[in-house]
Amino acid sequence: MCKEVEIRITGIVQGVGFRPFVYGLARRHGINGTVRNDTEGVLVHAEGAEEHLEEFIRGIREHPPPLSSIRSITITEAEKRGYDNFSISKSEVSEKRFTFLPPDTAVCQECLGEFFDTGDRRYRYPFITCTNCGPRFSIIDDIPYDRVNTSMAGFTMCDRCRREYEDPLDRRFHTQPDACPICGPHLTLWRADGTIIADTIGEVASQTVSLLRQGSILAIKGVGGFLLACDAKNDAAVERLRERKGRPFKPFAMMAGSIETIERILHVSPVERSLLLSKERPILLLKEKREEVSRLVAPDLSFHGIMLPYLPFQYLLFSADADMVLIMTSGNVADEPILYRDEDALRSLGRIADYLVLYNRDIVAQSDDSVLFVEEGIPFFIRRSRGYVPVPFQTEGTGKHILATGGDLKNSFALAKDDVIILSQFLGDLASPAANEQYRRTIDHFKRVYDFTPEVVVSDMHPGYFTTAFADELEREGLERIAVQHHHAHIASVIAEREIPGKVIGLAFDGTGYGIDGTLWGSEFLIADRRSFQRIAHFSNFRLPGGESAIRDVWKIGLSLLFSRYGTSVPGIISHPQCDLVLEILQKGIRSPLTCSVGRIFDGVSSLLGFSERVSTEAEAAMLLEEAAVRGSSWRGKPFDIPREEGDTVVLQTEALTEHIIDLMRGGVAREEIAYRFHRALAHSAVTLSERIREAYSITGVALSGGVFQNRLLLRLVMEELREKKFDIHTHAQVPCNDGCIAHGQLAVAIAHMNDGQEKD
Ligand code: ZN
Ligand code: ZN
Ligand code: FE
Repeated sequence: MCKEVEIRITGIVQGVGFRPFVYGLARRHGINGTVRNDTEGVLVHAEGAEEHLEEFIRGIREHPPPLSSIRSITITEAEKRGYDNFSISKSEVSEKRFTFLPPDTAVCQECLGEFFDTGDRRYRYPFITCTNCGPRFSIIDDIPYDRVNTSMAGFTMCDRCRREYEDPLDRRFHTQPDACPICGPHLTLWRADGTIIADTIGEVASQTVSLLRQGSILAIKGVGGFLLACDAKNDAAVERLRERKGRPFKPFAMMAGSIETIERILHVSPVERSLLLSKERPILLLKEKREEVSRLVAPDLSFHGIMLPYLPFQYLLFSADADMVLIMTSGNVADEPILYRDEDALRSLGRIADYLVLYNRDIVAQSDDSVLFVEEGIPFFIRRSRGYVPVPFQTEGTGKHILATGGDLKNSFALAKDDVIILSQFLGDLASPAANEQYRRTIDHFKRVYDFTPEVVVSDMHPGYFTTAFADELEREGLERIAVQHHHAHIASVIAEREIPGKVIGLAFDGTGYGIDGTLWGSEFLIADRRSFQRIAHFSNFRLPGGESAIRDVWKIGLSLLFSRYGTSVPGIISHPQCDLVLEILQKGIRSPLTCSVGRIFDGVSSLLGFSERVSTEAEAAMLLEEAAVRGSSWRGKPFDIPREEGDTVVLQTEALTEHIIDLMRGGVAREEIAYRFHRALAHSAVTLSERIREAYSITGVALSGGVFQNRLLLRLVMEELREKKFDIHTHAQVPCNDGCIAHGQLAVAIAHMNDGQEKD
């Protein structure tokens, strides 16, 4: 019996070789009809014997192309059109414009084989790509995903490329960025003064390698922006990069040529190994095994961030020197966004780099490298960007387009449309005009490529956030507005990711987030579901002298911890010429908001123990404290249980914790041991209190979120003790625990409210 069906496939199905795959499958099963891309995904019209059709559909379901990700397949009966073959038709723009864009992917093995094959016409061609690999998200400017809507539009294919592009059986069939040395983009090497010194791939590669070996700093245009590179084994080069970037402490990421090199210098577990080798090619944070790179790559830290090459040009550099280890850090100025336009790079990075490697194709959507670590065998995201963005998350639909503006630190925004959430790439801290401009531009880009017209806007409650002001703007334009408390968003993000049905005990240990009482929260024990939360417990407040902007002077936070326990008769631990002045500010409470943030407690304790006085980056003091604690972790005593004051809300006594630390210091205990005992006290008290909450409210799940859980020692201690006490532990999966999760959590809360038919506040 002959049958006719229409097969609608949604998900990441464009730009990943789906149509030729369907074409090949149809031919194998004797199916006639057509396949085409439209803005909803892929649409197949198939005619054939019933059993052949079944086989055909099973083939689509079970063995789709490697880069595709099918969300749904819908089959409906169709009219007979009497096809006598199977063909691929041109893209059609339909009414409902929504499709999923594929992420950027590392060059595949087949392309690499051709890249290093002297007989191949793409031998050493740095823009070699095929259906299974290469740039996607970063070059797509509009939908449908066709060459005219990418930054390849200006390159006219040569005859040979055109033939491959049009041949359904070729690996490069409809590969939009496909090109060759004759017709595609090419690399050039520039001196920082703006003169071109090499423009053939052989020259550019060999000069780049010798410049790196000589200790020069190069800005190299990558997938989502410029990376600053130098020899990681050369102290002088790394030091110069630190000076020029004005970045004394924050660790630099590195790139090594092979997994063997990484395994020689760093400890790599099987999970970490497979992540390093994955097509997403993220940066992994790994413990040092052998001191081979400069101490200045990650000063005072025992781990390194490292990744493997993902671009053909990177492979070419390492083919010239396999043992080389390079710094590869985002090409930006101070805390501003990664630069991705040639003219910006020449202007701004020209002051940091000695040379630049450019190419004549635009990056449309910028992105930084993604960063993960593995603890207890579980991958944790620190930054979800290149390689992962814009893979969608599933959600309940609301029928409306919703924009969540996120938080001001480590920003990503998110949109909800139909039944998916798309989280943007990492946009960093929104403190600079350049970052604000990038934020607006990226939202415009997402509106275009997702045909997204926000009807509802969701934001944080922080009155000083740029993201709040941005939401105010949209509200004035007539959008419906929802505000979500910061730590509720943190916990709601875990709940949504893990699809937790009921309530959880949410532990949000964080830098700072605006609380509903106007103080800065960040040590939250919540009982929460997606819709609402109740604040059950937190640490007692202390003042943040000078406000949130002054957190770089962590000694002031140390002093404030002392002040809140001992008043003006503070023990003489912190000696700073401005001590008296700050004490006066604390006494009067001028410009000193109240906070209970665990992140800030870490800062204060780090300064009390003398590990940090002034920091150049937010988590620096906490990182140094964690490092010290690991060194002091041979201690085997009973951890301090931080006293609690019971009331409507339980208050953990920050003052008692401070006193405990001071007593240990006075008792002559080594500061590394104190650092470790501080971690143990926090973990132990958090779990003890969670047990009490479990008893009182009969909730057995604990969700962990907040930037403090990037502290791997604390994370491990908390998880170990929770497991011992038989809690269900919920952590983030694909979303970072830092403020990179805020937009995702905001959407989870907003969607729950909208589907309840109620609006918040
Ligand atoms: Zn390929
Ligand atoms: Zn060509
Ligand atoms: Fe936060």
